[in-house]
Amino acid sequence: MPKPLERHYDGIIIGAGHHGLILGSYLAKAGLNILVIDRRLTYGGGLATHEVTEPGFYHNLHSINHFHISETPWFKDLGLDDKVTYITPRYEFGQAHRDGTALVLGRDLEETVANIARFSARDAATFRDWNRRAEAITARILLPERFSEPLPQHEREEILSRTAMGRDFLATTRRQPLDLVEELFENEHVRLLMLFKISLFGTWLTDTLSKTSPMGSVIRAFDLQTGYQLCQGGSFNLARGLMETFIASGGSFAPQAHVARILIEGGRATGIALADGRSVRARQFVASTIDVHQTFETMIGRDQLPDDLCRKLDGFRYTPWTLFGLHLALNESPRFAAAGFDPNVDRALKWSIGADTMAELASAHQDVQAGRVPKIVQFGAGPLSLIDPTQAPPGKHTTYAWHVMPLDPDLGGRSEASFRAEFADAIIETWARYCPNMTKRNIIGSYVYTARDYTRELINMRDGDIFMGAFNAEQVMYNHFGYRTPIPNLYMAGSPCHPGGAISGGAGYIAAGLIARDLGVNTWWQPCDARPALEALADGA
Ligand SMILES: Cc1cc2nc3c(=O)[nH]c(=O)nc-3n(C[C@H](O)[C@H](O)[C@H](O)COP(=O)(O)OP(=O)(O)OC[C@H]3O[C@@H](n4cnc5c(N)ncnc54)[C@H](O)[C@@H]3O)c2cc1C
Repeated sequence: MPKPLERHYDGIIIGAGHHGLILGSYLAKAGLNILVIDRRLTYGGGLATHEVTEPGFYHNLHSINHFHISETPWFKDLGLDDKVTYITPRYEFGQAHRDGTALVLGRDLEETVANIARFSARDAATFRDWNRRAEAITARILLPERFSEPLPQHEREEILSRTAMGRDFLATTRRQPLDLVEELFENEHVRLLMLFKISLFGTWLTDTLSKTSPMGSVIRAFDLQTGYQLCQGGSFNLARGLMETFIASGGSFAPQAHVARILIEGGRATGIALADGRSVRARQFVASTIDVHQTFETMIGRDQLPDDLCRKLDGFRYTPWTLFGLHLALNESPRFAAAGFDPNVDRALKWSIGADTMAELASAHQDVQAGRVPKIVQFGAGPLSLIDPTQAPPGKHTTYAWHVMPLDPDLGGRSEASFRAEFADAIIETWARYCPNMTKRNIIGSYVYTARDYTRELINMRDGDIFMGAFNAEQVMYNHFGYRTPIPNLYMAGSPCHPGGAISGGAGYIAAGLIARDLGVNTWWQPCDARPALEALADGA
């Protein structure tokens, strides 16, 4: 029996993904005796880097593009800069077209505006105007809100309504992102790349589900300063840095421990029971960073839950698409034919490949909604080893393709194995139309990794939902699942809570402040608070 399971703790955290490790690090540093527990042998959850093709090629099977991590409050508070390096690519988004043109968005406004002007002078002027507003809104509203417990809707709207910037932002959140992009931009290629930039994974499926965007994610289309970064050496290095911090702060980690039950005694959460029958006690709290259905239905049981919570669980929605991943070891990084038009397309962090028209993008949307394998192949990709050479052997390269897919697509009688092989070939064939060097000869090794695989490894990614909850208007901001639960001493601290799934660390960070306050523990850091940040808008308006 691993020793960590023989002791009692102040707090037990279920899940050693980044949310669990951030929460654990803050509370261990605050002097609490903390156990982080995970059913897998490893840790990091969606921060996973493996040599799945050939030795020396490090492939990030889950998350790759991380949001502005080195500037997050938790990265700074936890001193992660000493242990983990983030690379900020100069060119963030690239989209090549079959007509030989390419549109590239970088960090530099003038360069980006000039690139857009090659497609439409009017769209370039629109982008410049919206960028000015978006940079200010991001710094003064989006970022403080991302790392704070959401304010109740009426209070948020009342404060925001006091200033022009706040009113501008509120008006944007009430718009459907697709409508807004279509209204603002005339050029089809510009529209497509803006939609790709708003969405997390090259699909606007999720955004179109809601008629509004209360979180304001549509603003992401326009800001250039706070975009994606790449974790040097592979995403797992962030998990490594967090685990080192957690252990150095006195925390304990128990791997290979599948939590089957959360113990409720005297109406309070008092510990956890493992699938093998062992149990571990928590004197002060239990926090779950996994999905809501496993936490409440499986680990507690509906008979112990209030009706309100059962109704909330019944209404909880998961993202209705999954990712088909293809990871490649290459001799050469992909080179676009359109590099003749704009050479920087070759080194943009995120490529949108395969959809040249809005109709093509819409067709993938419709196919996935109907449970079909998309007819028109279109995917997100990126030249990872070109930006970070440590991810491949010297002179060699890695890349990946993520294609949106239904969880259980209609395979038309094909076996799963032949579907995987055929679809991987279809991706390469499409890629080669844009990048002539993407031939079979360039490919040293390939590895297909789909929702079937990642839901087996990360059982919390229920229904193949990489975010553990849809980003729809009914589930974001003031409508998020909630950190406190109706069961005393039990907290939610992961992706179902604001600011939601993806590697932002927000939910673990916010829950740390809230749990520390509830327990009367000294907060050694200054937790973010959206209220004064929004109230201060008036000073700068
Ligand atoms: C293919 C793919 C690509 C992605 N790309 C990106 C990207 O580029 N950028 C981005 O920001 N995000 C991306 N994501 C999403 C991102 O990985 C997740 O949002 C993130 O990992 C969530 O972090 P978390 O800490 O909430 O949960 P997780 O990282 O999922 O960690 C939860 C942990 O809980 C453990 N667990 C589950 N059930 C139990 C149990 N019963 N008992 C004990 N332990 C349990 C799991 O083993 C896991 O380690 C991607 C995800 C996938 C699958």
